[in-house]
Amino acid sequence: NPLQSSCSFGYTVKMEYLQSIYGSSLLAISDLLCIVVWQGSALEQAIISQRPKLEKLIATTAHEKMPWFHGKIDREDSEQRLLRSSRVNGKFLIRQRENNGRNVSFALCLLHNNQVMHYRIDKDRAGKLSIPDGKKFDTLWQLVEHYSYKPDGLLRVLTETCPRPSHDSVQGATGGILSRIKSYSFPKPGQKKVLNTHTIVLTEAMPMDTQVYESPYADPEELRSTTVKRSDLTLEDGELGSGNFGTVLRGVYQMKKTQKIVAVKILKNDDNNTAVKDEMLREASVMQQLDNPYIVRMIGICEAENLMLVMELAELGPLHKFLQKNKHISMKNITELVHQVSMGMKYLEEHNFVHRDLAARNVLLVTQHYAKISDFGLSKALAEEENYYKAKGHGKWPLKWYAPECMNYLKFSSKSDVWSFGVLMWEAFSYGQKPYKGLKGNEVIQMIESGERMSAPADCPAEMYNLMRKCWTYKPDERPGFSVVEPRLRHYYYDISQ
Ligand code: AMP
Repeated sequence: NPLQSSCSFGYTVKMEYLQSIYGSSLLAISDLLCIVVWQGSALEQAIISQRPKLEKLIATTAHEKMPWFHGKIDREDSEQRLLRSSRVNGKFLIRQRENNGRNVSFALCLLHNNQVMHYRIDKDRAGKLSIPDGKKFDTLWQLVEHYSYKPDGLLRVLTETCPRPSHDSVQGATGGILSRIKSYSFPKPGQKKVLNTHTIVLTEAMPMDTQVYESPYADPEELRSTTVKRSDLTLEDGELGSGNFGTVLRGVYQMKKTQKIVAVKILKNDDNNTAVKDEMLREASVMQQLDNPYIVRMIGICEAENLMLVMELAELGPLHKFLQKNKHISMKNITELVHQVSMGMKYLEEHNFVHRDLAARNVLLVTQHYAKISDFGLSKALAEEENYYKAKGHGKWPLKWYAPECMNYLKFSSKSDVWSFGVLMWEAFSYGQKPYKGLKGNEVIQMIESGERMSAPADCPAEMYNLMRKCWTYKPDERPGFSVVEPRLRHYYYDISQ
């Protein structure tokens, strides 16, 4: 396979898989594969979650690869190129015009009876391209295709491509996928890049543009270690939040080659309670085994004045609080976020972990478009031959998020996480409202046992409410797993992103 052979980083390319999700954008795939030096699964996850955005980026910049696109050359240069060698009528090229303003414009240069005609191609506010008074197109590709079979106002149809001189790199190509990926999407190993609050909050970065898409230990030169030296950790003032164990502060972790802004969970050890300490170490040991872009990663444990759990930072905090304060967030954006949570949960399901506390309060946002699952305090790794965990007794449980079998038989599985995921979806689509508002735990149990379920949040898309109802299927055997829930969300998200 030519694509496979052009990739030098040893990733086994699942071409069929990529084709099935990427359709015919092979050029784009080869671009991505040849540059990206990620582990296979990170790439796969990026493509799944960001397909609509990547497609748009590719569609609007892929002309940079075409032989008829000559980049920023001037009018005279384009004429010389068209008049060189064959002078077939309809021979053409596209160049990027010099312009002072911010708007990019192009010119279609067409050979007609030994003369070169220059048609301006303007981009309107919506990003549509057209020659004056002509039909509008989303991409230069479509424009070229259209005028290749229909003159539609030109002196003649486009016939032959005037090829770009070989080895001539395209000058002035604007922010294409190649340059985007090369320039900032993937910080190179060793590159020092300290994000500050503003970069995280203000950019509309895709998940893979952020510092927390890949594990800090993905760089082989950063030695993976479960312990963090206190001298490498600086704590900052100001709480990110607080929970059962104590407070969570922002900090800076000095790694071998780079600095990372981190979140540090600090155990309050006023009464030196070993049970709480063990609980926190158990949480750390679960987190340490997980590596997925949609799960908050543990960076290490620091034992100093207090026991501290150093984690990736998800600056924007819990999903429900964010949505309560940001009612302008679109349903599409909410779908994107819950889809990311389903990807993280599918990973847990595949690796035999049950979360047991999945709720909007335990989904943290890195950006408005990037969610991560957190809080593994109640999580369990299942033994190979088991598909559920049996609790020893009832505890301080989040009953409103729990499936009937958790309450009735103390049984926890990925299927009971799916139930909780349905409640999380309800919270997200209702902009962070409390589920079963006004009801006590035992009233909720009665309601579920009688077959009643929460009604749809206002303006919730029917497809999404139907999926919540599926997650609230009474019998776990009949309830879908995340392997079914995730693709349903994915396809719905793709549909509304068209
Ligand atoms: P927890 O003890 O895990 O429930 O965390 C308590 C609160 O601390 C959360 O609700 C968040 O507001 C904040 N927090 C916890 N972990 C992080 C993190 N990795 N990044 C940012 N904030 C966090």
